Amino acid sequence: MSDTALHPEENIRVRIAPSPTGDPHVGTAYIGLINFLYARQRGGKFVLRIEDTDRARFVATSEQMIFDALHWLGLTWDEGPDKGGPFGPYRQSERTAIYSEHAQILLDAGAAYRCFCTAEALEAARRQTPGRYSGTCRNLSVSEVEANLKAARPFTIRLKVPLDGSTTFRDELRGPITFEHNNVDDQVLIKSDGFPTYHLANVVDDHLMQISDVIRAEEWISSTPKHVLLYQAFGWKLPRFWHMPLLRNQDKSKISKRKNPVSLVYYRQAGFLPEAMLNFLGLMGGGMPADINDASEKFTLPEMLRHFDVKAIRPAGPVFDLTKLRWLNGEYIRALAPQAFYAALRSTVLSDAYLSEIASLIQPRIETLAEFGNLTHFFLADDILPSQDLFLPKNRALPDTLAFVAEQLTVLEAVEWTHAAIESALKQLGEAKGWSVKENFMLLRAILTGSTSSPPLIESMLIFGKARTLDRLRRFLDAQKKAPAPKKG
Ligand code: GLU
Repeated sequence: MSDTALHPEENIRVRIAPSPTGDPHVGTAYIGLINFLYARQRGGKFVLRIEDTDRARFVATSEQMIFDALHWLGLTWDEGPDKGGPFGPYRQSERTAIYSEHAQILLDAGAAYRCFCTAEALEAARRQTPGRYSGTCRNLSVSEVEANLKAARPFTIRLKVPLDGSTTFRDELRGPITFEHNNVDDQVLIKSDGFPTYHLANVVDDHLMQISDVIRAEEWISSTPKHVLLYQAFGWKLPRFWHMPLLRNQDKSKISKRKNPVSLVYYRQAGFLPEAMLNFLGLMGGGMPADINDASEKFTLPEMLRHFDVKAIRPAGPVFDLTKLRWLNGEYIRALAPQAFYAALRSTVLSDAYLSEIASLIQPRIETLAEFGNLTHFFLADDILPSQDLFLPKNRALPDTLAFVAEQLTVLEAVEWTHAAIESALKQLGEAKGWSVKENFMLLRAILTGSTSSPPLIESMLIFGKARTLDRLRRFLDAQKKAPAPKKG
């Protein structure tokens, strides 16, 4: 191992800092894996910090889903909200006093200022100079600030980015990166509700939690100059920055749910094995040497611990190739001993929890036990693609119908996965678009179950789960785009 040479003398501390805004993302697993390997290879600590200061996007169930997804993958952390540790609390919403104190330090040092601009004023100014704050409040006099405070005008606190010059920092994969200050905005650090933004909270916590290496996704590169200015304003030592390439769709765009499932909940429920997922993520970017295991692309977590080299990662975006992941998963499935394979089935797609929920839905609807299979195929199959005959309502054109399905998908993505919420969201959409309740639900039933006479639709969707329901709808739309089904009639 070249200059990944381990640094046992150094106190290596890394972290992942996911925001609990929905289902845990494959990107979190990818960055989690790299941080995990980095810490474990160097005898360091791996911290899990929950960045939950964006209250508008906060999803209450998300934090537990993040824990579960990381446990499923076997990426254990040393300090975190569930574990505690010497630098807690590890949930940012429990640290707001710390951020206020630090904002005050910046104000006192003249590195930040209060901005009293109203939302309307900001909007008007943005139309004049798009992309940047106009600077109206940068140089308010002490008495102007006092007057505004006395009048109880709401304010944000902004970083005072120098007007000229530039900031350069070193990215460990890319070398020095320079941003001209005239391209760096006076970032809001504290919002008018008193909550910090990501930038302030992230820097303060990385410093207080003694993070030695910030290993995160490439999308944060443009934030890093702001962070560096903050470290400098506080007089703090910089961590090393490593920005990992973004995972990409086949077409090289940033990985998105439109083109790939991105929820780890989906991969788990759809029966991907954690070993295959880790192996696949370990392949992304080229951190593993090509010549271990007789040039095979298959390797285990212990092998990654031995051979993975973060320095070898290429910054060009690795493609998240679902076909390859499925192939790898198949390899892992075939390698399981029969008992282990059966255990894998019983822990996911044939688990007691899943089957007993299905059973209670089916019980009132069958006359012999053997009919169980007739009504439940869609719960157990993974390739439901109804023909046009089945899904296309009489008197509706295909393009309009597919456009409506796309809207159903959008509505379902946003909805809380409860009976009442799903029902009312779908009905509302139907009313707005002139689809009767019957047509609306029948269409969805055909797509999700491959049949027009299935057990109750919403109950089935609840059992099947949000992640897999959305995936089924997306795959349906994809298939229609690629190969329009044969004409009706
Ligand atoms: N909260 C950020 C996220 O959700 C953390 C980014 C970072 O690691 O600095 O990805």
